[in-house]
Amino acid sequence: MCLFCKIVNKEIPSNIVLEDENFLAFHDINPKAPVHILAIPKIHVDSFNEVSPETMAGMTSFIQQLAKETKLDKNGYRVITNIGENGGQEVKHLHFHVLGGAKLKWDHF
Ligand code: C5P
Repeated sequence: MCLFCKIVNKEIPSNIVLEDENFLAFHDINPKAPVHILAIPKIHVDSFNEVSPETMAGMTSFIQQLAKETKLDKNGYRVITNIGENGGQEVKHLHFHVLGGAKLKWDHF
């Protein structure tokens, strides 16, 4: 079972921010911004390449709710999903980085 599936099953502890039947959000253990939360589907999906429109629709609502509840929606935030090797994806379970709490930089090379 993959690392994030184990987090979903509570076999590995995480600092949960928001959870519903289909999605989970928890604090990233190595934050890259003052607020760095990972939002994931509970079902295993390797990456954005494989995600269904239905899961993405639910994911969108979940991240919007997360932004509202954490008040990130007030001043803005960033949502990123890394895909494959060039994208820098380390964990092969679809996840969206939700970053905020400061004016973020934009530098990719
Ligand atoms: O997009 P990428 O696959 O590189 O992101 C994986 C993220 O998962 C990293 O930001 C890492 O800090 C985080 N992580 C975590 N808890 C773990 C293992 C990894 O928050 N137990």
